[in-house]
Amino acid sequence: MRTILHIDLDAFFVSVEQGRNPSLKGKPVIVGGDPEGRGVVAAASYEARAAGVRSGMPAAMARRLCPEAAFLRGDGYLYLRASERFFSIVRRYSPVVEAASVDEAYADLTGLQRLMGHPVEIAVRIRDETRATLGLESSLGLAANKLVAKVGSATAKPNGLAMVRPGYEAAFLAPQGLERLPGIGPGIRQKLTMFNIRRIGQLAALDPVLLEETFGRVGRLLHQRANGRDDRPVVSHRAPPPSVGREITFPEDTVDAPLLESVLYRLTEKAAGSLRREGLEARTVTLKLRYADFVTCSRSATLPSPTDLDPVLYEALLPLFRRLFVRRVAVRLIGVSLSRLVGGPRQLGLFEDRRLERLRRLYKGIDAVRERFGFHALTLGRSVARPPAGDTGAAA
Ligand SMILES: [Mg+2]
Repeated sequence: MRTILHIDLDAFFVSVEQGRNPSLKGKPVIVGGDPEGRGVVAAASYEARAAGVRSGMPAAMARRLCPEAAFLRGDGYLYLRASERFFSIVRRYSPVVEAASVDEAYADLTGLQRLMGHPVEIAVRIRDETRATLGLESSLGLAANKLVAKVGSATAKPNGLAMVRPGYEAAFLAPQGLERLPGIGPGIRQKLTMFNIRRIGQLAALDPVLLEETFGRVGRLLHQRANGRDDRPVVSHRAPPPSVGREITFPEDTVDAPLLESVLYRLTEKAAGSLRREGLEARTVTLKLRYADFVTCSRSATLPSPTDLDPVLYEALLPLFRRLFVRRVAVRLIGVSLSRLVGGPRQLGLFEDRRLERLRRLYKGIDAVRERFGFHALTLGRSVARPPAGDTGAAA
C-alpha cells in the first residue's frame, strides 16, 4: 500500500506577486493581461475569481468582470525561482518527488513513517515550511495513488488538507463533478454530458465494455480512474535542463532544402514557445544535422543579446543551416537547441525596442491560443510544410 502526497500551491503566480508587493494582498489581482486589455489571463487571485475571472480568459473580458483588479504582466523568471525553492523544500521530506507542474508536486511518502512521522504530519510540515520560507499557501491531498491525491488537494483548496483512506477512493470521487477527474478533455466530457453523465460516480458505474466501445482504449482508462484506481508511480525528475531543444527524425531521408528550412522554422517556433512559457531567453543557438550515413554535425552562434522571439532566433539559425547543409547526402534528422538561458529583459526593463515589444505581444497571444487549441491551431507564414510523420516535438 502506497502513500502519495499531492501538494499544490494556491494561486501561485498571484501569491508570488503579493509576496513582492504586500499592498496587493486581499485584493483582486490578475496576472497575464496587459492594461490595454490584450492577452490572456494566466492567473487570478481568489478575490478576482469571485468576480468570475478565470485563467485562459481574454484579459479584456476579465477587466469587464472585475474592473477594480490590478493587472500585472507577470514575471516568469521570478515564478521559476519560487518554484525551484518550493521543490527543494518538498525534496527534503521525501526522496521521490515529481514536479507535476510549476506549482504542484507529488511526493511518495510510502515507508517514511518511522523516519519522518505520520503522512499527515509530514504533509503539514511541508506546508508550514513553504509558508514560512516562501510566504506561499498550499493545499494537500493524501491518498494511496496520484489520481486520488490530486483530486484530494483540489477539493481542499485553498489552504486545506484532504486525506482519503485506502478502500474509500471510489466513494470519495463519486459525488465530484467530472471536471475534477484529471485527463478528461472537453471532447470526452461533452460526449459524457450527452449521456447525462455529470458526476464521477455515474461514470464509474458505466459498463466498462460500453466505455471501451465508445472511447477505445481511453474508455478502459476512464473506467479505472473513475473508480479511483491508478498505478502510475511517482517519477523523480532532475532539475530542468540548461537548454531547450526540439528535433525531428524524418520518416524518409531528404535533400529538399526548402522543406528542411521550413521544418527548421517550425522547430524554432516550438523551442521559442517553450522559452516564453518559462519566461526565459536564449543567448546561444545550435543547429544539428544528422545525415543518412549517420554523420552528425552541429554549429552554434551567439546572439548579440538574448531573445525569446522566433524570427530573431531563426535569423541566426538559417545561416548555420546553409553553411552546414553542403554535403550531397540526404538528411535524416534536424534539430535546434537554445542555450545559455537567462531571465528575460522584461524584468530589467532595459532597451525595450518598439518592434520587439509588438512582436512579443503577438507571440504572447499566439502562445495562449496554441496552449488552448494545440500547436497546429496557428502557424505563421514561414512554417508551411506539412509536419513529417514522427514529429514528436521531443526535447533534444
Ligand atoms: Mg496551484
